[in-house]
Amino acid sequence: MKIKIQWKLMASHLALVLLLGAILYGYLNHSLKNHLNSEIRDNLFNEARLVKIMSAKEITDMERDAPTLARTVGKEIKARVSIISSDGKVTGDSELNETELRKLQNHADRPEFIQAIERGQGVATRFSSTLGTNMIYIALPFQTTAGQPGIIRLALPLSRLDAAMTSLGTILGASLLLAVLCSLLLSYILSSITSRPLRSMAAAAARIGKGEFGSRIPVTSRDEIGELAEVMNDMAGKIERQLERISAEKNRLDTILRGMGEGVIVTNDTGDVILANPAFRSLFSLDEDCVGRTLIEIARQPAMNNALQRVLDYREEILEEMVVMVPDERHMLTHWVPLEEETNLIGTVAVFHDITDLKHLEKIRKDFVANVSHELRTPVSVIKGYAETILAEGKDLPPEKLRHFTGIIHSHADRLAHLISDLLTLSRIESGAMTLEPVPVNLVTAVNRVSQLLEQKACAREITLQRTESFEMTADILADPDKLEQVLINLLDNAIKFTPAGGTVTVNALDLGEKIRIEVTDTGTGIPPKDIPRIFERFYRVDAARSREMGGTGLGLSIVKHIVQAHGESVAVESTVGKGSTFSFTMKKARP
Ligand code: ADP
Repeated sequence: MKIKIQWKLMASHLALVLLLGAILYGYLNHSLKNHLNSEIRDNLFNEARLVKIMSAKEITDMERDAPTLARTVGKEIKARVSIISSDGKVTGDSELNETELRKLQNHADRPEFIQAIERGQGVATRFSSTLGTNMIYIALPFQTTAGQPGIIRLALPLSRLDAAMTSLGTILGASLLLAVLCSLLLSYILSSITSRPLRSMAAAAARIGKGEFGSRIPVTSRDEIGELAEVMNDMAGKIERQLERISAEKNRLDTILRGMGEGVIVTNDTGDVILANPAFRSLFSLDEDCVGRTLIEIARQPAMNNALQRVLDYREEILEEMVVMVPDERHMLTHWVPLEEETNLIGTVAVFHDITDLKHLEKIRKDFVANVSHELRTPVSVIKGYAETILAEGKDLPPEKLRHFTGIIHSHADRLAHLISDLLTLSRIESGAMTLEPVPVNLVTAVNRVSQLLEQKACAREITLQRTESFEMTADILADPDKLEQVLINLLDNAIKFTPAGGTVTVNALDLGEKIRIEVTDTGTGIPPKDIPRIFERFYRVDAARSREMGGTGLGLSIVKHIVQAHGESVAVESTVGKGSTFSFTMKKARP
């Protein structure tokens, strides 16, 4: 239960006042009682002395004078007056008539009587069976005028003392109660004043606790509370600055993680993911929900889970290449690091570097080297073989055989030259060394020149080279003339090569507004659909033997694609096996 400090202060004030009141009450009660007691006793003694003087004067004969004197004096002093002879017989008593007096016991054994005889005065307090109450007795010896000894005894009921004490106690109690009430009120006011700065401090501290670090506790005094407020303000300022620093660092880290191309995750010591950057989420097609779940649950890759378990179990750093299915096969270079705080393992950090493209490039490079070697090997070994034969048997060979062999060497050297020239072109394009100089080019003129170059070949293969009507009207395009010529040669050459005798190769142009699409359509063999996505790759051929036989290098379409892309445009192909193919590419108009 929450008890306010004000009530605690009030309770302590009250306890203090009650304790002091109780001590005061006890002390006053006790000392007043003593004082009253001795006062009553002194008064009774004084009165007894007076009665003694009177008795010494008035009493001549005890039996005769004592009753009257006792009654007269007793009436005046409101105490019981007894006059007792020296043998203990009560001769006069202010409270008793003569008959009662006669029946009264002998008082010689009463303590006050004995004390008075022995010491000259006697005091006793006891219960009086005669009056049925506690009494105080004072006894003094005297002598009658006739010289007869006797005892004057004054008795006062203690009930009067008790009554006085009770009323005194009541007054005392009432005044103490009043004092308590007053002090309670005072304590309420005081505690409220004292606790006010504490209350405002508590409210300000609560605001700071809720995150309002800008709010400050008012410093109203120079005492300890003021000092506490200053310390708390100072603390709030420090926390505010610290939080700003942490949040700036967090933002910086977030920005770095967001900007990283590599996927990054952080897990806790039980393997639950507590942070995943956007690259990781996009790599595994996850949304923000992945945080708080286990790695196996979100990524479903046993290899990753094994690595994570190893890091958690053995605290070892792991650099591992793994293949994950997301859903396609991707190669990842993963780096797992245990996250430690002092000596405790608090989790792991893992970085995922997608090296699929690198792997692919490496494969392309390896394939390329293998392909180039393969392509070079045939002509080189043919040239070498025939050259060796000529060298060995040159003199004995008939001239027509010698010419035939030399012709073979020449055609393979041609092929080699062709291959090397294509390779050089391709490498120049790929290395970026090729510079384009686009100028307005008239397509009809360009196609005319290429047609002239290929006319003989087309004729030999009985293929008709034709252009559509719309092509003749085509506007000028913006292109590098030499490179455009290379593209057209490669496409038309392929069309002629892969079209059986009697077929046609048609060049067409389509106006697309800002661009023109140039199409080369043949009625040739066509390309199977499965090969279409790959025919622009280097050395890719549908039928390698046939291509080689026709002097193809397998690089023609790759060169076409690169040149067109260098112009910022694209190539496309549509083909039906047995019917023919249409290769097309776009170029910007010189004057759109
Ligand atoms: P190649 O030197 O073999 O012609 P390319 O890169 O020019 O090399 O062409 C790659 C492959 O694409 C060819 O081997 C051939 O199989 C196919 N191809 C290209 N053009 C045509 C076409 N017009 N008709 C049918 N197949 C073609």
